[in-house]
Amino acid sequence: MFPVDLHTHSKASDGALTPTDLVLKAINEGITHLALTDHDTILGLHEAFIAATGTNLTLIPGIEASCTWNHEQIHIVGLGIDLNSTKLQEFCSIHKVKREERASKIGYILSRIGFDNAYEEAKKRAGVGASITRGNYARLIFEMGGAVSVDDAFNKYLKRGKRAYVVTNWLSLQEVIDYINKAGGIAILAHPRRYTFTNRKLRKLLDEFKQSGGVGMEINGCQQRDCDRQYLNDLAKKYELYASLGSDFHADGAYRSLGGYPSLDDSLVKIWEHEKINPYFKNFS
Ligand code: AMP
Ligand code: MN
Ligand code: MN
Ligand code: MN
Repeated sequence: MFPVDLHTHSKASDGALTPTDLVLKAINEGITHLALTDHDTILGLHEAFIAATGTNLTLIPGIEASCTWNHEQIHIVGLGIDLNSTKLQEFCSIHKVKREERASKIGYILSRIGFDNAYEEAKKRAGVGASITRGNYARLIFEMGGAVSVDDAFNKYLKRGKRAYVVTNWLSLQEVIDYINKAGGIAILAHPRRYTFTNRKLRKLLDEFKQSGGVGMEINGCQQRDCDRQYLNDLAKKYELYASLGSDFHADGAYRSLGGYPSLDDSLVKIWEHEKINPYFKNFS
């Protein structure tokens, strides 16, 4: 267990907890530095900051931005973003429209195959104005008895090639990184080992990510396997990227616990050493 968690979700997207409950849970479980990184939205951060005020927890404003690269969907975590930035608000509005269109299409398909009012039901379960993701639908399908687990629901209906998969053109890698940088944040490649890319393709992505102004990559946690860690460590060093870590917590379960991973390897440059977010880690040793 490590006290820093830089990738988590709340009801503002596909997490099960309100921002307040997420912050309280993090405090309870010994987290000292938490980033809330909801999908394409900063909606939960205001509430999360209120919950963190006067506690020992330092909250770092974040977002998990969707992105289309090479016809594939990838995720870029932005940390230390300025919530008042008009560029950030512009980014969120663009992706909100894309998410709404996609969520209603997915909902329509699901309602035709027996999950009545899927779109309305998914919206009802999430926070007001939340980003609806495939994660929301996976949980809904499971709750409606259409799968034996959330994972099973995802694999049966929502992943590429399955009936309720809908292609979306998110903003490009360069556009997403520009938005994050202009919003005063830093861009971190989320869970590089979860894209099922070959090593060659992953290196191509890292090349372009770095050239586009990305500065970090997630190494520990985020459902990446321990056996991939050495390779990820090597890539971070090769591309001179800061190393980040997080749980990608969405809901209570057997895995994805907050801070549920070991510390980063000594040989890596840690993301909290980056000047843009180092101020959030003044009290961290
Ligand atoms: P989206 O951004 O709408 O494509 O949805 C991506 C989200 O789906 C992720 O953030 C996860 O919350 C969820 N997800 C991805 N893979 C799985 C899986 N195998 N099982 C359950 N949920 C998943
Ligand atoms: Mn998610
Ligand atoms: Mn992700
Ligand atoms: Mn995530």
